[in-house]
Amino acid sequence: MWSTGPNIADGDVIIVWLTRDLIQPLTVEAGKDFNSRFGNYKHDDFIGTPYGSKVGARSGRGFIHLLRPTPELWTMALPHRTQILYHADISFITSWLNIKKGSKVIEAGTGSGSFSHSVIRSIGSTGHLWSYEFHEARETKAREEFARHGFSDIVTLTHRNVCKDGFTVADTVDALFLDIPAPWDAIEHAKLALRKDCITRICCFSPCIEQVLRTVTALNEHGFTDITMYETLQRPHDVARIPAPKSIAATTEKLKIAEVKREERRLQQIADNENRRQPKPKSPNKRKRADEEDDEGQEDGGKKAKTHKAEDTAELMLNGGEQTNEGSVSVSRVIPEVRGHTSYLTFATLMPIPPVRGPPAAEATPAETP
Ligand code: SAM
Repeated sequence: MWSTGPNIADGDVIIVWLTRDLIQPLTVEAGKDFNSRFGNYKHDDFIGTPYGSKVGARSGRGFIHLLRPTPELWTMALPHRTQILYHADISFITSWLNIKKGSKVIEAGTGSGSFSHSVIRSIGSTGHLWSYEFHEARETKAREEFARHGFSDIVTLTHRNVCKDGFTVADTVDALFLDIPAPWDAIEHAKLALRKDCITRICCFSPCIEQVLRTVTALNEHGFTDITMYETLQRPHDVARIPAPKSIAATTEKLKIAEVKREERRLQQIADNENRRQPKPKSPNKRKRADEEDDEGQEDGGKKAKTHKAEDTAELMLNGGEQTNEGSVSVSRVIPEVRGHTSYLTFATLMPIPPVRGPPAAEATPAETP
């Protein structure tokens, strides 16, 4: 297991937080050095230090933070061997698949083990994860990592092609997750591995809609129900501090007015752009002027955009409302643009097979006919 003690010990796996974009795992070994562009450090200085400490470099003004590994930090720091799952998807999948303490779960492929580490925490020592990877080098690396992190008892890692050879357990798991290029080829094997005495769930992670369609077809063919597809997208919020409102109702009203104005301006801008795009007959010597106008238009657009942004802020600030004695509060505005497609998540349910009952006693011994 990752250490649960308060202080870092020799041999612990820790997460070194250098900057928001530079986070790396490290196995602490007495006598070793840790060198980075933020200075040089001695592992000996880490040993006995409480988790979460800020440690200064031996030379220079650099510093680092030494953190206790969690699945979230591991996902941010792990050595990438493949594309990995991130926490927006991981948490959604875990909850939809109803993965909890004691759950028995299958995943394929293991890849870089990002999903595996989260599942391991969710299922705890009473659950079990069967993980399959057909790339030998990746399987070896994952095995080493699971052992180093103390998870060998919770994970059974198998080197195999699950589309061709299926899984190593039957009628056993509560949930099954496929992050492989051709999940539809593994659906019939998945059905064999899932328990039949209760509702079980499957999720397939595929980047293209064509893959989703093939998966849905296979799920239907094999009797899965409740087939649903989701995409997790992150929508950023713009947060600003505003003077504390005198009343919630007044603030809500002002924010509503600001929203309407913003929408009006957006529609006006679309109309302006349309007008500008309309081809107009131009005489040759007028063309230059028209081109110049276009350039100016762009500049104007930039200026307008800037003005709008300033107005937005002003509106967010409730028209520069006076600072009250009650201080300030935070408000947020949703930024309409949504980016970050990773994959489509196709979920489905397998209903339990009712136990086969013998015929009722009366039928078992048919009444004698007179
Ligand atoms: N979910 C992983 C994570 O979060 O780190 C990443 C999985 S990665 C995108 C896909 C992995 O599946 C690759 O390592 C690949 O070698 C493996 N794979 C692809 N097809 C497979 C198959 N038929 N059987 C087993 N593993 C397979």
